[in-house]
Amino acid sequence: MLTPRSGLETLKPYSVEEINWPVRLDANERPLDLPPAVKAKVAERLASLPFNRYPEISAQSLKTTIGADFGLKAANVLIGNGSSEVLEALCYAFGGAGRSIVYPSPSFSMYGIYAKLADSQPVPVELNRDYTLDADKLLAAAKQAAASVILLCNPNNPTGMIMPPEQVEYIVANTGSLVVIDEAYHEFYGQTSVHLLQKHPHVAVARTFSKAYGLAAARVGYLLANEEVTQTIGKVLLPYSVNALTLATAETVFGMRREFAGSIAENSRERDRMTAALSGLPGMTVYPSQTNFLLVKSNDAAGLVARLSARGIGVRDFSKSPGLINCIRLGIGTPAENDAVLEAVNS
Ligand code: PMP
Repeated sequence: MLTPRSGLETLKPYSVEEINWPVRLDANERPLDLPPAVKAKVAERLASLPFNRYPEISAQSLKTTIGADFGLKAANVLIGNGSSEVLEALCYAFGGAGRSIVYPSPSFSMYGIYAKLADSQPVPVELNRDYTLDADKLLAAAKQAAASVILLCNPNNPTGMIMPPEQVEYIVANTGSLVVIDEAYHEFYGQTSVHLLQKHPHVAVARTFSKAYGLAAARVGYLLANEEVTQTIGKVLLPYSVNALTLATAETVFGMRREFAGSIAENSRERDRMTAALSGLPGMTVYPSQTNFLLVKSNDAAGLVARLSARGIGVRDFSKSPGLINCIRLGIGTPAENDAVLEAVNS
């Protein structure tokens, strides 16, 4: 009998339904491929890339480019194979046996998995009934568990809701735990906690290229933190973990990110249109979102999912998940895709 490491037998892996829906609103992706001018530049960059050489060992040039944009040094930036990789590495580096990792719940379901993979105790702290966060309750839980890490998702997935910047600052000011603010959906919200890095050495901010910048396929994200934090996490990250194709692609996209402004603004307008259209329907609650998706609670969640899937529209069904009973997460697509959703919902 092969015996896995302790804790793995009971660990439920991250699972998503892999269905090739004609309308894919289930993974919070950008609904469109890259803007044509950006895609052409990426193709040009990749065509001249020597495929036989290893990438830069620690992604120095992308770190420098990103760091400069925030007024930070390359040493304040870590690049990962998706922000998933840097978040996981952070849990390995600052979690570990006998330590606790605290995070609000419901939130990104991987947080509990990262904590367990790092052999640490996951401590989910329930959000209020309206999915707002009670910061004092979170701080009390972190204190009681002597948490080494607090993970905050702002705006939060899957609720779409924000924590006001003052609330994030309040948490940071009242704990010695490493506070990580996962800003995967930052571009749809606009506000950030990056400025807290200047005053507080126990803050880190994670960002991704997978959402607003349409690079889910390339797998790339980053973490901003003080040098001591990045150096420690750097010990856990494997060398060459981000491949040269992805690094070149991310650098091109970062340099051309103004090309995305129009589609990000359109997505946010569409989100507000969908919120207004769905909020008026009987038996439906739409939570206020600052992201590219909506959390919708319905008296008839199963019927809603069935009507959408009958029209080839894939959404994330959380209706049987604790804390999210009767909820589905609906991505914001192109205007035509969103019209198709409204037609299905009203059918
Ligand atoms: N954080 C949050 C809140 C997310 O929703 C996701 C993706 N669903 C991630 C991190 C991971 O993104 P990636 O690894 O693609 O950068």
